[in-house]
Amino acid sequence: MSTQEPKRNFIREIIDGDIRNGKNGGRVQTRFPPEPNGLLHIGHAKSICLNFGLAADYHGLCNLRFDDTNPETEEAVYVESIKEDVRWLGFDWDDREFYASDYFEKLYEYAVDLIKKGKAYVCDLSAEEISDYRGSLTAPGRVSPYRNRSVEENLELFRRMRYGEFPDGFRTLRAKIDMSHPNLLMRDPVLYRIRREHHYRTGEKWCIYATYDWAHGQSDSIEGITHSICTLEFEVHRPLYDWLLDQLGIHHPQQIEFARLSVSHTVLSKRKLLELVKEGRVSGWDDPRMPTISGLRRRGYTPEAIRNFCELIGVAKANSIVDLALLEDCVREELNKRAPRVMAVLRPLKVVIVNYPEGQVEELDAINNPEDPSMGTRKVPFSRVLYIERDDFMEAPPKKFYRLAPGREVRLRYAYFIKCVDIVKDPKTGEVVELHCTYDPATRGGDAPDGRRVKATLHWVSADRACNAEVRLYETLFSKRDAGEVEEGADWKSNLNPNSLQVLKECKLEPSLKSAAPGNRVQFERMGYFCVDAKDSAPENLVFNRTVTLYDPWANIRKAGTENQ
Ligand code: ATP
Ligand code: MG
Repeated sequence: MSTQEPKRNFIREIIDGDIRNGKNGGRVQTRFPPEPNGLLHIGHAKSICLNFGLAADYHGLCNLRFDDTNPETEEAVYVESIKEDVRWLGFDWDDREFYASDYFEKLYEYAVDLIKKGKAYVCDLSAEEISDYRGSLTAPGRVSPYRNRSVEENLELFRRMRYGEFPDGFRTLRAKIDMSHPNLLMRDPVLYRIRREHHYRTGEKWCIYATYDWAHGQSDSIEGITHSICTLEFEVHRPLYDWLLDQLGIHHPQQIEFARLSVSHTVLSKRKLLELVKEGRVSGWDDPRMPTISGLRRRGYTPEAIRNFCELIGVAKANSIVDLALLEDCVREELNKRAPRVMAVLRPLKVVIVNYPEGQVEELDAINNPEDPSMGTRKVPFSRVLYIERDDFMEAPPKKFYRLAPGREVRLRYAYFIKCVDIVKDPKTGEVVELHCTYDPATRGGDAPDGRRVKATLHWVSADRACNAEVRLYETLFSKRDAGEVEEGADWKSNLNPNSLQVLKECKLEPSLKSAAPGNRVQFERMGYFCVDAKDSAPENLVFNRTVTLYDPWANIRKAGTENQ
């Protein structure tokens, strides 16, 4: 992937140390453990790049494991899209596709073992009572009256829990640790609860389900994971995971925490993203405004751009918000190298070249990518009636407006100088609906033999050869940099940006785009990078999404930022 040396970070330091000390026989095995309760987002991409990247760099392995211990919210369709997204990002788990639900029996056996060791008990307190007994940061917890049940009784009750003899929520299995431990998670945490829920893989087979805290560390152990890399909020869980593994006396992976990625102007929480989908605030998980991998893909992002972004932001121990502009910069850099340039007029204004012969068409040469001469040239037709961008004309231009205006001459890209000689207005509204221009045949190709200069070069499209398209322009999904910062009592969705989508229906594209296929990426000169929408575009009804604008105020900031690192 990246030909550069990977960036040093604290996780690599730990792994290097483990290898030096011969821990795990020098073996490195990581995993990416998504819960199939939604689609992956850019935060997951960071975790994927990190886990698969480390495995590759250390000649190790990375497993894909579905952490599917929570039946209510999990679905098989999410499994499929998660696999598609990981693959699209460029990573491969070979035959190491695992499911925590495949370990249910094994996890049950571990629980029995813990009971036999006197380290777990069946408790009859309700959920509210358990939380009440837990105490607080300042007050110790109280011991459950069921804590001292005999091993035999616990084994018997736990077996009966499994075989459905009690109603939902009636009993739990809890670890027997320390009700006055300063870490609240160590105060006899619940390991199993009774829940009659259909599980998308195990069906009705189980009516007790392991908590995440019970399932996660043991699943890592079963797979022989050496380094369990997770986000910072699990740091406080580590003593519990360590305790459980030590009591069981099984393979003990090392958990390492890093800061989870937050990106400005968006939210990275599957629960929130699902709410946007369900409420129809976006068209789906793959709406191009979504920070999901599928949304970014549909928007025109490349896997390379996302991987570069993940490499660039690195891993840290402190949470912070990364600017969305940095992600945009990564895709811009990538598309600048590979996207062919074409001309498209998004808000058309008709131009008639009054001294150009009616019916004549010239095929002019246009360069496909000035960054890459090997991409060659193409022909664009020039004719008497054209479209230019409405914004490229002003009847009464202010001082710094150098584009077309009455009496002014500009260059049409790859074509001629034209001069505006007349304007036609809608008699009712006064709106300019057409321009009359003359062209100078001597300026063909874009330069005047007499050396006279113009201050602007405009893109354009020949009217009778143009193809029509719908173009979708995007702004950020949320208006605030910190999308989660809301007024007290206000809904988190109050920060949604009402202008995040703008649809232009009357766009005119140069004819070479007629055959554009879903997913194709191009630069519309002066307008940004666009891609053909993979869902809604059809040959007779082209739809383009703007991936990113060309405007790039952050390039210098970013450069300064990385130079200081
Ligand atoms: P969400 O809050 O979006 O539901 P999650 O952590 O509950 O996220 P999981 O499916 O459990 O989602 O995550 C799978 C892996 O991806 C975990 O190892 C988790 O640490 C990692 N991950 C999730 N979100 C981020 C993020 N924003 N930055 C970095 N890693 C993340
Ligand atoms: Mg989770």
